Amino acid sequence: MIHNYPGFPDNISGKELLERIRTQALKMGAEIRKGDIISMMLNMPIKTVTTKRETITAKAVILASGIRREILNIPGEGKLLGLGVSYCVICDGPLYKGRKVTVIGYGEDAISDTIFLSGIAREVYFTPLKPLPTEHIEKLKAHSRVKILYEAKVKKIIGDKHVQGVEALRGEESEIIDVDGIFVVTEETPTLKILKAAGIKVDNRGCIKVNLKQETNIEGVYAAGDCTCGEMQAITVVGQGVLVAINAVAYIRSKPHL
Ligand SMILES: Cc1cc2nc3c(=O)[nH]c(=O)nc-3n(C[C@H](O)[C@H](O)[C@H](O)COP(=O)(O)OP(=O)(O)OC[C@H]3O[C@@H](n4cnc5c(N)ncnc54)[C@H](O)[C@@H]3O)c2cc1C
Repeated sequence: MIHNYPGFPDNISGKELLERIRTQALKMGAEIRKGDIISMMLNMPIKTVTTKRETITAKAVILASGIRREILNIPGEGKLLGLGVSYCVICDGPLYKGRKVTVIGYGEDAISDTIFLSGIAREVYFTPLKPLPTEHIEKLKAHSRVKILYEAKVKKIIGDKHVQGVEALRGEESEIIDVDGIFVVTEETPTLKILKAAGIKVDNRGCIKVNLKQETNIEGVYAAGDCTCGEMQAITVVGQGVLVAINAVAYIRSKPHL
């Protein structure tokens, strides 16, 4: 349920919003082709995007591949997704004002998200999935509401209708840690390899680098949405999508010879 999309004071489900946008796009003449993109050739005036079934040619390409993060693949994770399990601190963090949460993950994003949550939640546990670099430990220790659970291995998420805690293994001992929310924050992006192979420049977090016109480093190739690691909210993504469409159309019109 999306509570913060302008124009829907009584909320709208993500599914319905998507369906409405899809219907409108089709009405305006868009053609939708389904398929997993497995490779792209972008460094030429006519670009190609290949799925398992077909190769599509285009004068301009807009990348909107989102950011798919690693999942923990532990019991309770799928069942409690949206019921206390989240992969998006900026989206769901504000729901945990004065409550107890844990961030499970690694990398710069996990550290900054933990610090962000410490300004909202009463207590924030950080459960590292990889050994923590000293600079990350120091950053976390500067925030009194953050507690690092060194060497804890989360085995299970506990809860029926909502997250109630996690079961973790610390050494030989099994321990239940009571939390109301679990945020999984890692750096994994599966489509990254395809983007890099196509020559698209990304930053050290795997986010596509764009300028103010949403142009990537390759002429005629644009990017919008979570893949650029903007604010990661539906409305900002839609705004970027509109901007990118206007710019891509202007680009195509400026190249009548193509
Ligand atoms: C649990 C959760 C709750 C959220 N709640 C809110 C909220 O309340 N309000 C809000 O504003 N935002 C919320 N967000 C954020 C919002 O959903 C995202 O910002 C938005 O969906 C990003 O849109 P996008 O189009 O950039 O990426 P996505 O919606 O992630 O879409 C990317 C698409 O690209 C596809 N893709 C990736 N790689 C390939 C490939 N190789 N071949 C083919 N297809 C590919 C993916 O399958 C996906 O369909 C939430 C996010 C999550 C995860």
